[in-house]
Amino acid sequence: MQSKVNLENSSDKTNSKHTNKLSSIESDLRYAIERNQLELYYQPKIYAKTNQMIGAEALIRWNHPKWGIISPNEFIPLAESTGLINEIGKWVKHTACTQIKAWHEAKLPMIPISINLSATRFLERDLITNIVQTLKETNLEAQYLEIEITESSLLENEEVVFSILDDLRNLGIKIALDDFGTGYSSLSYLNRFKGKIDILKIDRSFINDLSNSHEEDSNFIVNMIIQLSHQLKMSVIAEGVETIEQLNLLQKYNCNTIQGYLFSKPLPATEFAKLLKKDRLEPLENSI
Ligand code: C2E
Ligand code: MG
Ligand code: MG
Ligand code: MG
Repeated sequence: MQSKVNLENSSDKTNSKHTNKLSSIESDLRYAIERNQLELYYQPKIYAKTNQMIGAEALIRWNHPKWGIISPNEFIPLAESTGLINEIGKWVKHTACTQIKAWHEAKLPMIPISINLSATRFLERDLITNIVQTLKETNLEAQYLEIEITESSLLENEEVVFSILDDLRNLGIKIALDDFGTGYSSLSYLNRFKGKIDILKIDRSFINDLSNSHEEDSNFIVNMIIQLSHQLKMSVIAEGVETIEQLNLLQKYNCNTIQGYLFSKPLPATEFAKLLKKDRLEPLENSI
């Protein structure tokens, strides 16, 4: 609510268009679920050695009647600050599980699909019961649902975090650490999560900087994160892979699971289902 007051009181005329949009989307967000404006898109995760799809990530979109498709980077922070994130989080979980189950029933390949969890949502008391209930309602086996959290989720009370992670693992749900390398956790901190986190996702900003010129610092960092994940017995995924050059370097460094426009942008469910039917995906020539 705080942000709304600030926005409406803003006297900066040059920002007024932006401000109007922000305050109008804040009030519209309240009705987005009941007006059926939210949608999940799905982006493949590819095993680079065979070009097979071995997983996917569900990413939320808001089809706004006036502003068109609004990116989650714009409205998720707003949902977090207004508390709407709980309702949206439940919607995401339920919609993803229902969709995954429908693909199973349609005899499409059964692969795990991840959802993103806000740090605020991660710490909600009812998270685990809500997940259990959703899996039960949708009749989905837990192994097909993965959860992506960011480093900020891990910075809270360690006992609480450990107990949530343990509960999720006991259910059979895998946990990925998203945007890895952009947070503030130290390497020794990550060590504490050995056996508790299954997957590291290297942030897109590092992949973006990968280059064939060997002096690049970014190559070194990416290589280091990959070796670190192997040491900690975590799988590793590169996010935001857009070029063949990046793909080749990642494979050279032994990172074999990749996600990015090179293979596919996030797609609406019906489009995504067409990719799911394919034996393998080919890299796209003009991915960007
Ligand atoms: P994320 O979880 O790190 O998701 C990856 C983002 O990178 C997605 O942006 C995806 O579309 C984009 N991406 C993937 N490959 C490429 C590429 O090759 N090039 C470029 N330029 N971008 C690529 P998107 O869908 O806009 O989502 C942004 C962020 O919003 C997500 O980052 C995640 O933090 C958040 N988000 C998305 N859906 C949800 C949700 O259902 N719940 C919550 N709490 N957060 C969500
Ligand atoms: Mg993610
Ligand atoms: Mg990410
Ligand atoms: Mg992100």
